[in-house]
Amino acid sequence: MSHYRGRFAPTPSGPLHFGSLVAALASFLDARHAGGEWWLRIEDIDPPRCPPGAADEIQRQLEAFGLHWDGPVLWQHGRDGAYQAALDRLIALGLAYPCSCSRKQWRDSPIYPGWCREGVREPANPLAWRLRSDLGLRPVVWQDRLFGEQRFDPATLGDVVLKRKDGLWAYQLAVVVDDAELQISDVVRGFDLLDNTPWQRQLQDALGVPEPRYLHLPLIIGEGGQKLSKQNLAPALPTDDDAVRPLLHAALAALDQSPPADLTGAPVAELLAWGIAHWEVSRIRPEPHRTTEGDALPPD
Ligand code: GLU
Repeated sequence: MSHYRGRFAPTPSGPLHFGSLVAALASFLDARHAGGEWWLRIEDIDPPRCPPGAADEIQRQLEAFGLHWDGPVLWQHGRDGAYQAALDRLIALGLAYPCSCSRKQWRDSPIYPGWCREGVREPANPLAWRLRSDLGLRPVVWQDRLFGEQRFDPATLGDVVLKRKDGLWAYQLAVVVDDAELQISDVVRGFDLLDNTPWQRQLQDALGVPEPRYLHLPLIIGEGGQKLSKQNLAPALPTDDDAVRPLLHAALAALDQSPPADLTGAPVAELLAWGIAHWEVSRIRPEPHRTTEGDALPPD
């Protein structure tokens, strides 16, 4: 492969849990197996959601699992100039518009009905900026490396927010600008972001930046059937080596890579070397994966 550059892009809203380990590990193994680079970008565009120390803890957790990244850590804070330039371009293309509507006003509709498309309804109120999903690339079609052909009409998903009323940048815009700037060739991330990809493809198309390859990973759910997430209090990944080794083995197993049982207590470097050498995307089953690792709910 001529150029492979992947990334792990956690939001530092809390420490990593088993679900995030699986995503980080898959993107790391995919990059290293291809002889490519793997970068770390901390997606801290929403400071109120990012408690102090969380980004440091994430880095310590990745290091404990041997997931060493290339290059300096990238941050999203302080990138306003780049995001604003992208928004200005979209405005000039007629693909972004200001919007005063509050969620409460359109609560009876499944998606934002586009009321401000032809002019802001309440210009004196705080304004968000939204994408004209009806005027961008449609339909959006891509070949997901695990889930196969994906086809969406972004207009049915709605005019996503690019910049919030409080002035903070939204994930969809920041991720596209930053992946393009870093020349990311491969996005490997959780299934929960698959249906965000259509907006990101529209933005890439409008901004004239290349389309990365996409590999979305199966959802990891706890024994109780819930998605592992910070919201439902999935426990933080440990950093002590004794706890890290079996969990890394479990993460390889959760990716259906079938690590040999006798590698269970093996050193991190050995587990990763095995994982890199044997990495095969075609082994991953697309169905949601149930795990007992990191399940915060008490048993029924
Ligand atoms: N920051 C996002 C998250 O933590 C991931 C972004 C991405 O991989 O595109 O869910």
